[in-house]
Amino acid sequence: MKYLIVIDMQKDFVDGSLGTPEAQAVVPRIEKKIAGGGYDRIFFTFDTHFSDYSETLEGKKLPVQHCIKGTDGWNTALGYDRFSRENTVEKYTFGYTDWNKLLPDKNDIENIEFVGVCTDICVISNALILRALYPDTPMTVDASCCAGTTPEAHKAALTVMRSCQIDIINE
Ligand SMILES: [Zn+2]
Repeated sequence: MKYLIVIDMQKDFVDGSLGTPEAQAVVPRIEKKIAGGGYDRIFFTFDTHFSDYSETLEGKKLPVQHCIKGTDGWNTALGYDRFSRENTVEKYTFGYTDWNKLLPDKNDIENIEFVGVCTDICVISNALILRALYPDTPMTVDASCCAGTTPEAHKAALTVMRSCQIDIINE
């Protein structure tokens, strides 16, 4: 099985409170990748916060409200509307820690590919969690379909993921 994991492609990270031109640029590339097929399963993570965001550690260190459940900024920035309970992963911090429940059989995984935002926070957090869970599984990050908090942080995160034996393509 070939898996594609699309990280946090939500309006607040694209043209909302934490949006960047780099994130806007990857939207059509990710849409093209999804439309092109070739994946047996695609998961979409959604960064999810609530009205108590400012009291969380993330909220104290990053005092910008974003991805509050129920607001438009939480919604997907992609022109993809086939979300289901099975392909949507709501996560309440950078990394989702229950991937092994969604991908239970490591022997059926041919490759896991990552795209999305932010390269240096949620893409790398989830890629390294999956790297720890599946040390023998080939993994890929399509750099052209990722955006960081800054272009420098994006590059730095790619360097770290490459060190952890994740293949970086289209850099
Ligand atoms: Zn967040």
